Amino acid sequence: QAKSQGKNRYVIHTAELLNVMMDEYKLEVDLRRALDKNEFVLHYQPQINNCTGKLVGFEALIRWQHPTLGLIPPGKFIKLAEENGLITQIGEWVIEEACSQIKKWQDAGMTPVKMSVNLSTQQFLTRNLVSFMKNVLERTAIDPAYLVVEITEYMAMEGEYSIHVLKQLKALGLGISIDDFGTGYSSLNYLKNFPIDYIKIDKSFVSELMNNEKDTIIVKAIITLAHNLHKEVIAEGVETKEQLDFLKDHQCDISQGYYFNKPLPVDEIETIYLAQH
Ligand code: C2E
Ligand code: MG
Ligand code: MG
Ligand code: MG
Repeated sequence: QAKSQGKNRYVIHTAELLNVMMDEYKLEVDLRRALDKNEFVLHYQPQINNCTGKLVGFEALIRWQHPTLGLIPPGKFIKLAEENGLITQIGEWVIEEACSQIKKWQDAGMTPVKMSVNLSTQQFLTRNLVSFMKNVLERTAIDPAYLVVEITEYMAMEGEYSIHVLKQLKALGLGISIDDFGTGYSSLNYLKNFPIDYIKIDKSFVSELMNNEKDTIIVKAIITLAHNLHKEVIAEGVETKEQLDFLKDHQCDISQGYYFNKPLPVDEIETIYLAQH
């Protein structure tokens, strides 16, 4: 009896494992078609200047509008796309889409604000990143000063090559931001030599800001470090008034988080954007 139950359980586990594998396989097949079928969308999250309370930028965040599974967040498919190499094409779509959105808003006469896009490590290491970027900027005819690329500390680990790429991107006129600051493997050395404009404090430090004295100390130190190196500081994941007040009191420049807005589809963003100007 017990033995046969155990055996059944084993059979069930195998079936479940097969199901998981099938689901992943199907998702990958779908992901390969998603670009052609135009299923990706960008949502935009406002970034607010802490002194003026004004909108100063957006972060573009990708979502996948899956035909049967609904809206899939990047956490569920970016890793898969990195594993199968699709991330470079997807990342190019993101840049293209973000730039044409800037262009549309510019043509509609809206006061320009900055637009940040996330780069994946693979995309950063792709040889044609700089020429692709240059090409998109020329085609969309936007002022590159309004485009910011977010890289992570992992991308700074390629040493001289990373510096080389970042300098070329800077030369195009873009802004450069270090995302999820303080969570990666990198040494602080790159802050000295890399052309970085913004440091984004990871939301893991912001979320416990009012409860955990260690996070308070870390956030204060990041802000001081960034300012002494003449970089601006963006806090991500700001959810409460208390967190915002703390960040303001400690001269953090810009805030982004649910306290203001979640990442929103373009029509909802336009309502907010228009109301601000
Ligand atoms: P990230 O770049 O650090 O983006 C911030 C994430 O925090 C976003 O999650 C955003 O929705 C979320 N967030 C913002 N404010 C709050 C808040 O107040 N509370 C909480 N709990 N969360 C907040 P999302 O959109 O799910 O994106 C997750 C990650 O996926 C991003 O982290 C980024 O690493 C990656 N990602 C998103 N879009 C792209 C893309 O176009 N290309 C690449 N390569 N990666 C992307
Ligand atoms: Mg980001
Ligand atoms: Mg971030
Ligand atoms: Mg993050």
